[in-house]
Amino acid sequence: MANDVMEKIVSLCKRRGYVYPSSEIYGGINSCWDYGPVGVELKKNIKEFWWKSMTYYRDDIEGLDASIIMHPMVWKASGHVDGFTDAMVDCKNCKLRFRGDEIDGKSCPDCGGELTEARLFNLMFKTHIGAVEEEATTIYLRPETAQGIYVNFQNVLNSSRRKVPFGIAQIGKAFRNEITPKNFIFRMREFEQMEMQYFVKPESAEEWFETWRKERMQWYVDLGIREDRLHFQELGKDELPHYASKAYDIQYQFPFGLEEIEGIHNRTDYDLKNHSKFSGKDLEYFDDSEGKKFIPHVIEVSAGVDRTLLACLVDAYDEEEDRVVLRLSPKIAPIKVGIFPLVKREGMPEVAVKITQDLRRHMKVFYDESGSIGRRYRRQDEIGTPFGVTVDAQTLKDDTVTLRTRDDMKQVRLKISDLARELGELIQRI
Ligand code: ATP
Repeated sequence: MANDVMEKIVSLCKRRGYVYPSSEIYGGINSCWDYGPVGVELKKNIKEFWWKSMTYYRDDIEGLDASIIMHPMVWKASGHVDGFTDAMVDCKNCKLRFRGDEIDGKSCPDCGGELTEARLFNLMFKTHIGAVEEEATTIYLRPETAQGIYVNFQNVLNSSRRKVPFGIAQIGKAFRNEITPKNFIFRMREFEQMEMQYFVKPESAEEWFETWRKERMQWYVDLGIREDRLHFQELGKDELPHYASKAYDIQYQFPFGLEEIEGIHNRTDYDLKNHSKFSGKDLEYFDDSEGKKFIPHVIEVSAGVDRTLLACLVDAYDEEEDRVVLRLSPKIAPIKVGIFPLVKREGMPEVAVKITQDLRRHMKVFYDESGSIGRRYRRQDEIGTPFGVTVDAQTLKDDTVTLRTRDDMKQVRLKISDLARELGELIQRI
């Protein structure tokens, strides 16, 4: 049943332009996916909602966009060169590969065959910088965006004249050579993160951790995800990442299980202290109110764009007797309104095109005049378009149209001149 839902979502994504397998004409490449015309809109809306919640709706967070390729010493200092590893085991019989922590027992979960000893495998992708490979330096594709924030801590502090506590937010690509990528866009080798590092006084770290834990859970609810499918999971001491003293995952109930969509970490002074040590630069903060210097502690909130998007799709997916409907929150839906002439004659297309042109400046719209009106509604329901506007015979008499709501399929009549304002209010723009 669970797999059935995932299969349907994967197929809808391909058919309707949310997500395609990468390089498909060459047979695809495991763990890489491309976002299609509506997928890219949904992704952009999720990122925008996150970005605004961090840097527009609060006044204690600055934005940053650091480069993906960084000085190799960054990853030495951060502990990733030595510690960002997963244990890998192979089945000697069927050759399947597993992550050590996925295996319970000594034999292959698939065929019962004998397993190899666990070997540690570093998840960072390596490449070279410079024209001649032998002379070049080995560099890494970043496995997290966070380090770009730490190495710019002093820069942002100086240019923004912030005082602790304050945060730095960043959205960007990260790369991990995952041993077992799976579950569609849940575990990819190239993915996108939305990370915010909040710099605090050491003694207030615990309190800020609690504040951010609650804030971040509320963000998913505000995004339109059902509260009863969201959970917190505190990580045990043996599960903590190498940089964290305390961590909670926010999990979503996917069809394939309860799985992490965001990590909230108390990273203490681990990163700034190590960058200070490895770079020889003083990364202490001077607190002029108390006249003392210290290395700030960091509370990190680290969300995956792709996992959040998958949670939104799964949460929104619904089947009714005669339609499939994505009940996405209007604020993140890729297309806000479909515009349809009831028939392709009597001047209805001209009026509908005019409405489309007018609304286009306010929101993402889609004009469709082909096929029966029922089929046109169903197509928009399937990609989650929350509203439909239909031009019919009465429009030509009194300048009103029908406004159909995706979720209950109810229709009301509205004046064309009121459409932009009414729709704007219904969509509650981000
Ligand atoms: P997991 O245990 O599932 O591998 P993680 O604990 O290593 O995840 P973090 O390092 O805390 O993940 O990364 C923060 C967020 O980045 C995750 O909550 C997730 O949303 C996203 N993320 C991490 N790895 C991947 C991946 N391979 N594909 C897609 N998103 C990912």
